[in-house]
Amino acid sequence: MRFDLLHPREQLVQIMGRIYRYGLTTTSGGNLSVLDENGDLWITPSAVDKGALQQRDIMCLLADGRTSGVHTPSSEYPFHQSIYRRRTDIRAIVHAHSPALVSFSIARKIPDTRIIPQAHHVCGPVGYAPYALPGSQQLGENIAATFAQGFDVVLLENHGVVTAGPDLLTAFQRLETLDFCARTQIQAHSLGPVHTLSDGQIARFERSAPALPSFQAASHSSHERALRAQICHMVRRAYDQRLMTSTEGTVSARVDEGRFLITPYGIDRSHLEVEDIVLIEGGRAEAGKQPSRATRLHHVIYDQHPGVHCIITAQSPNAMAYAVTGKALDSKTIPESYVVLRNVPLVPHGLQYEAPEGISAAITKNSPVVLIENDTVLATGASVHQAFDRLEVADFTAFSLLSTLSIGPLVPIGEDDVRELEAKFG
Ligand SMILES: [Zn+2]
Repeated sequence: MRFDLLHPREQLVQIMGRIYRYGLTTTSGGNLSVLDENGDLWITPSAVDKGALQQRDIMCLLADGRTSGVHTPSSEYPFHQSIYRRRTDIRAIVHAHSPALVSFSIARKIPDTRIIPQAHHVCGPVGYAPYALPGSQQLGENIAATFAQGFDVVLLENHGVVTAGPDLLTAFQRLETLDFCARTQIQAHSLGPVHTLSDGQIARFERSAPALPSFQAASHSSHERALRAQICHMVRRAYDQRLMTSTEGTVSARVDEGRFLITPYGIDRSHLEVEDIVLIEGGRAEAGKQPSRATRLHHVIYDQHPGVHCIITAQSPNAMAYAVTGKALDSKTIPESYVVLRNVPLVPHGLQYEAPEGISAAITKNSPVVLIENDTVLATGASVHQAFDRLEVADFTAFSLLSTLSIGPLVPIGEDDVRELEAKFG
């Protein structure tokens, strides 16, 4: 779907719906705007239920100074106007009060986007605007002055966050990615210090998308078409479960010996269609499509593990708390998690680019899920369903273990109990 071809009213309704559904704002909080080429500013209304916004509710501040629409524009419109005046490259603004980002704003700390390279790629560095009364001219000046320094993402002291971009989808992706960083760091806090990536490690990621040679797919079997639909279904489900964001997360599935399907690079995970999925054959990609940056890693795993038919890489905040602190995710404490996950090895950051064989070697019958430091959770399976189940179990297990830390000491099952489990479940 070409989001940029939608009318600003439709764009604002869609994105506000996503923000509300993902718990990034309440019914009364948050506001969004899009600046039209002719200078008209389309903006969400004040005091209208954000969970049930309709196109007719959107307000327009016309370039000639008049206002059009059936409501009052958001009371925070002055800061939107101030940002557009100071940064002519910005055409869309998102403001929200997500609980995780509000937590950072009242602790007066900035979430670190260097915890995974993709987050830094989407958000860049984060600016910080000092407190001023909501809706005031002073708040507008504080925020616009921070954007004028070149930031695209600005945390508002004791308030929330503002993100911006050349279009509304980009501004939204910056909000959800920064929120992911904040949630991951909150979850990781009880485990110990969070590791962050160096400039060199981030630069390595930026260089990691070499173009593959292409081929024209002559025909598509029914088996391949069924797999395309399963991949799209699971990506949308992972997105709805917040195991992926709109810019992060990859699913692939083996078609036959030598061929697999993989999700594309740079397409919104919540709107993935079967034609977006890329067929890979002998190291070549289906013509006209750009496969995920993780294609080489998936290729190596399929070559070395004939029993693996699906691979999912995702950034779910609970499991990622372990991947950004380097702490062991011990599934043995929860018997039914141990049966599904067995041991969850942690492999060093950088192997995904330099030596994917090292990650492939960590995958065994007794370790079908692997954490890659400051990068991803990687789940494999004999089917799309099994890989997805393992990803979900890994994140749920991590969530339970992290929650335990705040209510009392974690009591593991005994070694004899573990041996009994292994004997019963192979
Ligand atoms: Zn606000």
